[in-house]
Amino acid sequence: MSLTEITAKIHKAEEAADRPVGATDLIAVSKRQPDARVADVLAEGHRVFGENQVQEAAGKWPGFKEQFDGVSVHLLGPLQTNKARQAMELFDVIHSLDRPKLAKTLSRLAQETGSCPDLFIQVNTGEEPQKAGVLLADVDGFVADCRALELPVVGLMCIPPVDEEPSLHFALLAKLATRNGLAGLSMGMSGDFERAVALGATCVRVGSAIFGERPTQT
Ligand SMILES: *Cc1c(COP(=O)(O)O)cnc(C)c1O
Repeated sequence: MSLTEITAKIHKAEEAADRPVGATDLIAVSKRQPDARVADVLAEGHRVFGENQVQEAAGKWPGFKEQFDGVSVHLLGPLQTNKARQAMELFDVIHSLDRPKLAKTLSRLAQETGSCPDLFIQVNTGEEPQKAGVLLADVDGFVADCRALELPVVGLMCIPPVDEEPSLHFALLAKLATRNGLAGLSMGMSGDFERAVALGATCVRVGSAIFGERPTQT
């Protein structure tokens, strides 16, 4: 699908849900996509991108940011504490804050450098053992701890289990965000972004629908 088509679908879903048109940001997920494809999407005027790995983003985005103004890059994948400093330099927003140790490290680095990307707390809404994210029972406490650390937490993020109806997870995430006074909702991918918009997503993370299938990992 073209960017125009996806944006039109987002706008339609916003209208249907009585939300302001344009309320949802589209993050173009460029992980593992060839640079030429990413350059095409930049040339079309899109400026918000998502990546899964610090290393991959470090090889790609400093160069693109020199060529194109106003680019923002979001980290969507898990972050190891030993890469936190590099991640804070590279990314404008981090969607994968998921544990106390990482919160403490980000807080220390933010104090030291005087700046910090906006942060989403990742919630493991399906309580899947293999998946990252804060468990449901721990969300309220973790949000409070991050605020005590003066971290700029702007919202919650989830990746629903593949075999379940995502809307249930989106609704749950929205409820948790409201309860914690958080406005941001990072939810919805290529297969379900319209359902996420219907349930209040403030950003959707769309990869393959924009760029085509990702080359398999080597
Ligand atoms: C890869 C990825 C996406 C994009 O997935 P698509 O199905 O290609 O749209 C979104 N969010 C996260 C966290 C991802 O890792």
